[in-house]
Amino acid sequence: MEGQALKFVIVGHVDHGKSTLIGRLLHDTNSLPPDKIKEIKKASKELGKKTEFAYLLDHLKEERQQGVTIDTTQVFFKTEKREYVIIDAPGHVEFVKNMITGASQAEAALLIADVKEGVREQTKRHAYILSMLGLSQVIIIINKMDLVNYEQKHFDEVKKDIDRFLTSINIKVNYYIPISAAKGDNVAKKSKNMKWYKGKTTLESLDYLKSRLSAENKPLVFPVQDVYKIDEKRIVVGRIEAGSIAKGDKIKILPDGNITKVKSIEKFKENIDKAKADESIGVTTEDSLFINRGNVICKPHQEIQLSDEFRANIFWISKKSFNKDRRITLKCATQQISCKVDKIYKRFDSSTLKVIEKNAEKLDNLEVGEVLIKTKKPIAVTRFNDIQELGRFVFIEDDNTCAGGIIT
Ligand code: GDP
Repeated sequence: MEGQALKFVIVGHVDHGKSTLIGRLLHDTNSLPPDKIKEIKKASKELGKKTEFAYLLDHLKEERQQGVTIDTTQVFFKTEKREYVIIDAPGHVEFVKNMITGASQAEAALLIADVKEGVREQTKRHAYILSMLGLSQVIIIINKMDLVNYEQKHFDEVKKDIDRFLTSINIKVNYYIPISAAKGDNVAKKSKNMKWYKGKTTLESLDYLKSRLSAENKPLVFPVQDVYKIDEKRIVVGRIEAGSIAKGDKIKILPDGNITKVKSIEKFKENIDKAKADESIGVTTEDSLFINRGNVICKPHQEIQLSDEFRANIFWISKKSFNKDRRITLKCATQQISCKVDKIYKRFDSSTLKVIEKNAEKLDNLEVGEVLIKTKKPIAVTRFNDIQELGRFVFIEDDNTCAGGIIT
């Protein structure tokens, strides 16, 4: 089994089958206790229905509201290959907010569409959000195939429509899968009703997605939080955001670019030989260099780009509107710098995703902007998809976080 759970979201138009698919995935991977299943079968019978997986999810949600056992904001299941976490996306404003602020981060998305209804308004809106967030692993699920006799021509038609739309917004699709979430075709088991479909089941396709490199296997990102001077020693402290560091490693201090070697590593006042992502440590160096809060330490052969101009998508969450050209503080990891939004290429309403204006001058509360940012000095940043810790930032004004963004 691979080390890290893969997190994904299921999005799509209302009633196209999100809850049913989640229920089906949990059921078919034996992720539910048997008494729970029995209980649900019984309740569904009383409602005069076959086992209703959508009902199952409502049922779990109700339990959560009562503060019991299962948390549906994060639903877990596993295959032989790895563990999965389905992140609930209650509404797209929350979804965008969570992704941008790092509260919960999907690595992949399942976009679901009812084969009889095809591409609808929310199908497009959700797809657009995926493209804005730079999510690069997308599986299209065409659901309710049982309602069209499992015929290929209906699948092909909807597939063509979705494909046309997704191409127009630059989303590349990993798989298109015809399923019936209600009956269980092509979710965990290959469907006997759709012999014409030679592709993977939903679970198989999930297993083929790439897990984000686990944080410690990434290039080193060690943002400096502070530098303590104790006697003659200068100890550089911070939290390793990604990668690992060991005694004797050559390191490079950004933005200056000076290179030195790690002399010692301390954790809880004890000397250790190496440390990895998520650990808070103190480091001393062979050479006495000027190292300050906001510097980022990396390794010379895994260099992180320095940049003072980059494109980003920002989500404005402050009540006070934002006017272009107003100087604002950008914070990325421990780096903090004055910047300016040079261009607002497009301004969107985050709930309808309608373009309000092109080449805009301002952003209001809950609006999204495709922007160009210029910082006063170069800082260490990457694209969100490369190293999230350096691809995500917030804007701060008067001590308030007023926007979050990802670098595209
Ligand atoms: P959501 O709003 O996207 O979560 O959609 P639900 O999962 O609640 O499903 C909406 C309705 O479609 C429910 O009545 C489901 O029983 C039904 N449904 C979902 N999947 C299927 C399917 O594969 N076949 C059929 N016939 N009905 C389905």
